[in-house]
Amino acid sequence: MTAAPLIRTIPVGPLRCNCSIVADVDAREAVVIDPGDEAEKIVSAIETTGCRAVALLHTHGHFDHIGGTAEVKRATGAEIRIHPADRPLYDALPEQASFFGLDAIPPLPPDGGFSDGETIAVGRLRLQVLHTPGHTPGSTCFRLEGEPPVLFAGDTLFRRSIGRTDLWGGDAETILTSIREKLFTLPPELRVVCGHGPDTTIGEERRENPFLRL
Ligand SMILES: [Zn+2]
Ligand SMILES: [Zn+2]
Repeated sequence: MTAAPLIRTIPVGPLRCNCSIVADVDAREAVVIDPGDEAEKIVSAIETTGCRAVALLHTHGHFDHIGGTAEVKRATGAEIRIHPADRPLYDALPEQASFFGLDAIPPLPPDGGFSDGETIAVGRLRLQVLHTPGHTPGSTCFRLEGEPPVLFAGDTLFRRSIGRTDLWGGDAETILTSIREKLFTLPPELRVVCGHGPDTTIGEERRENPFLRL
């Protein structure tokens, strides 16, 4: 039996980063993907699920995806996890924010990483880790198994667009390879929650994404 996930996606911060809460309500466990800003709003959204946050997962180390992490960690005690290749970016949160003229609370050290192919458990739910470098070296997508499955794509794939590669550690060839080999091989009907903006599906982007035309 697969548990039906509860998914709440909340745009946070000046760049409207999509922060998602994924919960197994029966098991009373949740994870937060990209607590980028507005920690109070995220913490009260977790509380309304009636679940305990067990992990704060990050699709990558850009400031708009990690800016609320320290406060949500202090409020919930959830483990902070990010791909090790983005640890330098994560640690440089204050410098990243000031580059954009913003302030940031200094980061707390991560409790752990994850690697390609690993499975993360949330109650009876399972999230599969897909390392998709290019937007940043440690960019990661999380594929939630279950009914229906969902891909949390961070800033790797957007509806009709892809993540920029002109920031720290970005690489244009690498992001295209990641999308073609790791994402476009997934089922076409798979729903994609993007790091910013509206949802899409793998099939739609395979047909319509102008950055991936051959
Ligand atoms: Zn980003
Ligand atoms: Zn972003």
